[in-house]
Amino acid sequence: MQEQLFFSDIPTLYRSLPFKFKALLIKGKGNYICLRRADRFLKNPGLLSVREREALLYIAVWLAKTKSGDISENTSFLLSQNFYLWEKIRADGHTCIGRKCPFFGECFVYKVRNKVKQAQIVVVNHALLLSDLDGSILGDYDYLIVDEAHNLEKVAADALGGELTQWRFRSAFDAIFSEMPLPSGTLVFLMTALNDDEKYKSLYQKAAQSVIAARAFCDTFFMELAQQLENFYHWKEQEYSVKKRYDSTNPVFQKIEPLGLEFVKYIKHATEELKRFRKNLNIIRLGGIWKGIRITDEDIGEMRKELLTRLEEKW
Ligand code: SF4
Repeated sequence: MQEQLFFSDIPTLYRSLPFKFKALLIKGKGNYICLRRADRFLKNPGLLSVREREALLYIAVWLAKTKSGDISENTSFLLSQNFYLWEKIRADGHTCIGRKCPFFGECFVYKVRNKVKQAQIVVVNHALLLSDLDGSILGDYDYLIVDEAHNLEKVAADALGGELTQWRFRSAFDAIFSEMPLPSGTLVFLMTALNDDEKYKSLYQKAAQSVIAARAFCDTFFMELAQQLENFYHWKEQEYSVKKRYDSTNPVFQKIEPLGLEFVKYIKHATEELKRFRKNLNIIRLGGIWKGIRITDEDIGEMRKELLTRLEEKW
């Protein structure tokens, strides 16, 4: 739709009008890579799970040549499977530090933003329009023409709502700690940096075990959810896939809620163990052991916040 407007309708308009104008086609901020966030992982791949590290290679190769920073160009990077990694390295209004950023001059988002200022017509999709309510990309505009406005409500629900998937949780847990094929993730990275010091092993093991338990319960929860949905809607017999939004009055979600709350407890336990580990590391850092290691306790903190927020807000 956007492409048709931009590549077909706007050129027609341009040729028909007696004056010239600049038109621009842009996407949402989350489609662009954040150079600062990506740089952190490119310099410290040990912060990622093995699977994420593999996916990061496709980012590194693409990053060396992209001019737009738009991830849709990168067909080798499977966004649906690497969603959690992309969440960590994509541009995001909450983590952007603007002019203080060492990559500000090369930043893809700011380049787009500057182009927007020079254009008289900007073509965006519904998702960008709704995700840019703070105007951080589009800025102020005088006129807004919404095409296919009957779809706006659905897109608003997607853009302003939330989505939880088994894949996302698994990726998040793997990024903290994964046993297979080899132990990896932030916890392992930290322990390696501490030369596997016996003094921290007990805290490390408790944190790692709590992540393993939460991941196992995650699988149980999503399997049961799928089974309950199947029992109720008989999806396997349907010709088309059926989508059901979370609704606390829906009998399937009501039935699954106790398990969801149990899952929250597993996550809470894991985050408490991670917090304990993190607090200990802060003391270590004060002792100077951290010198030269480019990592902050922010990683674990961010993951904890992410997991807790997503779960607690939804259930
Ligand atoms: S200016 Fe913001 S979005 Fe751009 S690279 Fe820096 S932190 Fe990322």
